[in-house]
Amino acid sequence: MPISESFKNRLFPVLDKITSHFQTPFHIYDEAGIRETGNRLQNAFSGIGSFKEYYAVKALPNPEILKIMQSIGFGFDCSSITELQLCRSLGARNEEIIFTSNNTSHEDFMEAAKDGGCILNLDDINLIDKVPEMPELICFRYNPGARRTGNDIIGNPVEAKYGVSHEQIIEAYRRAKKRGANRFGIHTMVASNELNYTYMVQTAQMLLDLITEINAQLEIEFEFINIGGGLGIPYQPDIHGLNLEQMGREVTELFHNFKKLNGYVPALFMESGRFMTGPHGALITTVINRKEIYRTYIGVDASMSALMRPALYGAYHHIDVLQKRPSDTTETVDITGSLCENNDKFAIQRNLPFMKEDDILVIHDTGAHGHSMGFNYNGNLRPKELLLTEDNRAEMIRREERPEDYFATLQYEQNSLSL
Ligand SMILES: *Cc1c(COP(=O)(O)O)cnc(C)c1O
Repeated sequence: MPISESFKNRLFPVLDKITSHFQTPFHIYDEAGIRETGNRLQNAFSGIGSFKEYYAVKALPNPEILKIMQSIGFGFDCSSITELQLCRSLGARNEEIIFTSNNTSHEDFMEAAKDGGCILNLDDINLIDKVPEMPELICFRYNPGARRTGNDIIGNPVEAKYGVSHEQIIEAYRRAKKRGANRFGIHTMVASNELNYTYMVQTAQMLLDLITEINAQLEIEFEFINIGGGLGIPYQPDIHGLNLEQMGREVTELFHNFKKLNGYVPALFMESGRFMTGPHGALITTVINRKEIYRTYIGVDASMSALMRPALYGAYHHIDVLQKRPSDTTETVDITGSLCENNDKFAIQRNLPFMKEDDILVIHDTGAHGHSMGFNYNGNLRPKELLLTEDNRAEMIRREERPEDYFATLQYEQNSLSL
């Protein structure tokens, strides 16, 4: 199931009105759907003493979307200075933010410490000595090494650049403690777009085992385990979504068992990005050209700069064709943008209704890693973003890029060095 039937039912009847007012292309996000998934997540883990989702900001870094997350009670997972600034501009403070950086710079640390700081998630043992001021609460990202992975986007953890190895992990907490930390959490992220919930349950078990091991050696009681993001969504129409409710039941049972053995339980943190917003967004674009050479190419008014996933990962995004007069034949086509880059395609050899200019295409599941992955190659400008609100409005939440945005970095003070 790509975008939900309820999103379709809210969107399709009004799409004509929206496209004539705002003009294509645009991404549109479904507030009701995002809230529904947020509530599902809360409910699935409500049996655990304390649960918090830290929305992975990179998936859809739009302030209006982030405000929805805040209103559900979610925090934010940030990985860069600008993501920190974005969340703080919305009032997020301290333990409402986790900063999970990789290849962290001094500037990153300085920004993370501003405004009362945040939960610092260190990616390497060597960073302990580089943190300008060790916060009370510290977390490490754990890389478990050789382990079965669900798919190949994140790869085998042995080959992944992230985290602290198993060999280093106890020493990392020992050194952080020595530098003054006295509250602790642990984090891992070993999945990407994983549809098998048992893999996430195993990840929770792995961290619970690990904190028991660390506790035995260092007498550290962990406040939280963070199992990261990576919950998958079904992009293809014929596959099932992740069984969140069953995952919730099994993870809750692990926590109950842990409590029986240890007399306390940590909180459960999660940083889902894709699962929270992916299925609640769509890219709306108009057919502007039909071209028939060796294949039939349907040219649309959006390019891969609005949605990188098909070109980057060969990812499938489901497509619906909305036509004033539905055609009664289908054809096999490539759907293309206008970049001088042959990968600039939204679909390759896809069987779709016979299309004409001005038909509207709905490209599904663009609510995560869609607009945010965009870029300006070829001078291409990214489209606007709209929100379909719960009170039945289409609201612009980011305008389209304009040439002056593209040229903005060419405005600078002269700076040259005689050599
Ligand atoms: C990308 C990322 C996430 C979110 O991943 P999803 O697949 O969108 O759930 C969470 N945590 C970290 C550290 C990440 O890098």
